[in-house]
Amino acid sequence: MKNGVVIIGAGHAGVQAAASLRDEGYDGPVRLIGDEAELPYHKPPLSKTFIKDVDARPQILRADSFYSGAGVDLLLGERAIRLDPAAGRLELASGASLAYDKAILATGARPRVLAIEGGLLAGVLSLRSIADARAIRVLAATVEDVVILGGGFIGLEIAATLVASRRRVTVVEAQDRLLARVVAPAISAHVAGRLAASGVRVMTRTTVSRIEGDDGHVSAVITSAGERIAARMLIVGIGVVPNVELAADAGLAIANGIRVDGQLRSSAPNIFAIGDIASYRHWLTGGDVRLESVQNATDHAKLAARAIVGHGDSYAAVPWFWSDIGDMKLQMVGLTGGSDRQIVSGEPTDNRFSVFHYKGGRLIGVESVNRPADHMLGRRMLAAGFSPSPEVVAAGDGSLKAALAAWQAAQPHPDSGRDG
Ligand code: ADP
Repeated sequence: MKNGVVIIGAGHAGVQAAASLRDEGYDGPVRLIGDEAELPYHKPPLSKTFIKDVDARPQILRADSFYSGAGVDLLLGERAIRLDPAAGRLELASGASLAYDKAILATGARPRVLAIEGGLLAGVLSLRSIADARAIRVLAATVEDVVILGGGFIGLEIAATLVASRRRVTVVEAQDRLLARVVAPAISAHVAGRLAASGVRVMTRTTVSRIEGDDGHVSAVITSAGERIAARMLIVGIGVVPNVELAADAGLAIANGIRVDGQLRSSAPNIFAIGDIASYRHWLTGGDVRLESVQNATDHAKLAARAIVGHGDSYAAVPWFWSDIGDMKLQMVGLTGGSDRQIVSGEPTDNRFSVFHYKGGRLIGVESVNRPADHMLGRRMLAAGFSPSPEVVAAGDGSLKAALAAWQAAQPHPDSGRDG
C-alpha cells in the first residue's frame, strides 16, 4: 500500500486513528488533515474549565513530537473539499490532491443553527471548537446576563460554569424536562433542582421565538411564552448536525450520518467513517445509532485501524459517556432507549445516586450522579452480558459486585474446550 491512509478530521477520532494505525504496526504513510490551525485538542474541557478562565490553555491531545515521532504527517488549516472513491483521491481547498489506499472520515459534527429572527446577531454563540470557546469566554467576561437555549449536556455544562462565575443564567428548554433525550426523569429532576439552587433559572416547555438586537449585538430574547429576557449573550446548544457533505457528494450511503458496517467501513470499501459522523447498527441493542462521545470516537478509531491492518473483529465496545454539571459528575453507560423499568440506588438528596435501566427484564444501562463505582460496575456488567436482578441492585454496590463475581466464576472459561 504505497499511498497510505488519509484521515480527514483531526478531533478525538482522527488523532486516535493515526496513533492506532502505528500501534497496530501499520507502516505506510499516514496523513491527518484538520481544518483548524492549531494542534488537536481535548473538547470536553471547553464547556467547563476553559471558558471560566481567560488564561486557560488548550489541552492538546498529543504533543507536537508525537506526530513527527510516529511518522504522522499532520496537515493543519487544510480543508478537504472533494473525495473521489473510485480514483482513491482527496482534494484539499489549498489545491493539493492526495492519493490514498484507505481513507478514514472523522469529520465530526457542527452545532445546529437557530434559524430565527436575530439568530445572526453578534453575541449569539454556540460551542464546538476552541475558537467558539474563546469567543464565549471573551464575551462572558464582560456580560452579566446569559441565556442558554437548549438544556442538553452542552447547555447545562456551560450554565453551571457561568453561574459559578456569578453570571445570571437562564436555561430555555423546549422539552418538558432537561436532558430529556439522554437520561432518566429522576436525573433530569435532580439536575434541574440543583441548578436552580445554584441560581440558574430553568425554563422548560419554552423556546426562544425572537432575538432583539442593539447595534448589531443581541440585547434580549423573547421566549415562546412572550417574556422578554435582557441578555447580551445567547448560547445556542440545541444539538449538532453531522458533517457528511464530503461523503454525500462522493456518493457514500448516508442515514443520519455516514452509514458503516460492523467494521466501520462505509458503502465504499476503502473508506471508513468513525466517531460522531458514523451511523451504524449497534451490537448491544440491534438498533441504529449515531453516538456523540469521546468513547465512541476513540473505540471506533481503534477498530478502524485494526480493520485496515487486516483484523476481522467487529465493533463491540460498551458505549459510555460523562458530563460534569457543577458539582454533579454524570456518568452514563449502555443505551437506554426503550427502558421500561428504572431502579434508583442511593440517595438523590446526598447528590449521589444511580438509575439502573431495564428493558424486558434485562439491564440495558446505568446512569450515575457522583457514583463512579456504579458506573464502572455498569461497564463491566454490560461488557460481560450480565444482568443483575433488580433486588440485587437495590441492595447496593457490595451485593452487585458479589453477584457479578459469582456470575463470572460460573461462566465457562473462554479457553476451555480448546485442545492442544
Ligand atoms: P447538545 O450536544 O447540543 O447538548 P442535545 O441534543 O443533547 O445536544 O441537547 C439539545 C437540547 O436542546 C435538547 O434538550 C433539546 O430538547 C433542546 N432543544 C432543541 N431545539 C430547541 C429549541 N428550538 N428551543 C429550546 N430547546 C431546544
